[in-house]
Amino acid sequence: MRSLYPGRLKRLRLILARQGLDAFLVTCPENRRYLSGFTAEDMGISESAGALLVLRNEAILLTDGRYQVQARDEAPDWHLVIYRQGLAHTLKDLMYGSAIHKIAYEPNFLTCQQFDAIRKALPETEFVALSGRIEAMRSIKAPLEIDYIKEAISAAESVLNGVWRAIRPGITEKEVAWYILEGLWRCAEGPSFPPIVASGPNAALPHAVPTDKVLEEGEPVIVDMGARLKGYCSDMTRTMFVGRPKPLFREVYSIVREAQLAAQRALKAGLTGRQIDKIARDIIHDAGYGPRFVHSLGHGVGLAVHEAPILSHRSRKMLRAGMVVTIEPGIYLPGQGGVRLENMALVEAEGTTILSKKDWFYDF
Ligand code: ZN
Ligand code: ZN
Repeated sequence: MRSLYPGRLKRLRLILARQGLDAFLVTCPENRRYLSGFTAEDMGISESAGALLVLRNEAILLTDGRYQVQARDEAPDWHLVIYRQGLAHTLKDLMYGSAIHKIAYEPNFLTCQQFDAIRKALPETEFVALSGRIEAMRSIKAPLEIDYIKEAISAAESVLNGVWRAIRPGITEKEVAWYILEGLWRCAEGPSFPPIVASGPNAALPHAVPTDKVLEEGEPVIVDMGARLKGYCSDMTRTMFVGRPKPLFREVYSIVREAQLAAQRALKAGLTGRQIDKIARDIIHDAGYGPRFVHSLGHGVGLAVHEAPILSHRSRKMLRAGMVVTIEPGIYLPGQGGVRLENMALVEAEGTTILSKKDWFYDF
């Protein structure tokens, strides 16, 4: 992985040069890791593990004393600065008398309070909000990153294999979720997001939280989970049935699967996210469930479980070879239940490779 960092930094500096910027202040944790190899995670929106300051000819990693040893180990090529009185104060010291006048920052990864403090500390500096640039670099995966993602997929699948067998009437959603979490900590670095286990009417909520509800005969159970391995995420959803599903859910399941297969067949570089979304959405719409497909078709996966590109009606950006995306159509019937099926796919010049296993699908 270390061999990838110089090239990434070079590309970021090209962006600096093209935009006439003197520096890029990186505060998104995944971008920080992507550029430097520093793996620390932020504990919350206002508790950052540090920032990068990328200059035209210098790369500085700023963090606090808790991360000093880790930062030196993981990012040995970066000039390490430990701050004692916060990021804003340290930036002021660093920039004093320098020729840095125009700095890009990430508005979606800086709180208003942090930004105010930085602006006050550097009153002469011009700040340019620049989001999505490093994310666009991250969206095209290197072969090594694809290998890591595949490992994260395999880890999640080995856990799901056990879940498939454990699902039975009488077990609760939380018990299934606990089984998944335990497996993901055992087979990987842990979950890439808190698993969703949603049965019966709860399956009508796309982002349901596992409850004490007991799984009952005939119900759909949406299981959405993923692993993290070497920092990379996987994300997959299967809808399972406890015993024999009702005819309505057999129908809904078949429609969702058809939509997923059609989108998978069509996926390739050169199409927009909007075009792929429409292929799946049209099938669900024509079957009479258009308003019940309440989210976009998919998203990129990498260091973050949700990242660029987005496959939705709003996405006019072209998909490119090397992107890893999910294909996850769903139909949700309030009060009754729902079905979502999610695979991960590698976008290629002439088509796609489905990275998720073909297992755990019904053929109604
Ligand atoms: Zn998912
Ligand atoms: Zn997803």
